Amino acid sequence: MWKECKYCHREFWTDYIKKEYCSEHCAYKYNYERSRASILAKYKKPRNSIDNVIKSKKSNKVVFNFIMELNQLTTLSYGKLMQYYPDLNKIKSFIDYQQVVGNAKKVNVDKIMLNHAKQLNLDFN
Ligand SMILES: [Zn+2]
Repeated sequence: MWKECKYCHREFWTDYIKKEYCSEHCAYKYNYERSRASILAKYKKPRNSIDNVIKSKKSNKVVFNFIMELNQLTTLSYGKLMQYYPDLNKIKSFIDYQQVVGNAKKVNVDKIMLNHAKQLNLDFN
């Protein structure tokens, strides 16, 4: 009987009713592409919902204000403080160190750090 190949759509002659491909090659190609497509679909990252975008914009502003506040209090630069973000403990030890060596104003930043940690659910101790 004549059948149409599922992959290349050429007609081919076969004695087997269940045969779907004109060749091993087409059978392989068809299954390979199908499984690849299904794997890709499975692992495709879900798109950010608008909600998430708004949330992250809001928290970006919170982070910016927090670092700016530390910057104004300690006089340490925004970039230097930001390089340790979001590790608040590292930011704190950086500030502590800079205060010891005299590069930062000696102000207590614990309260600001704690507030920020609470606000964004970050670790700080
Ligand atoms: Zn074929």
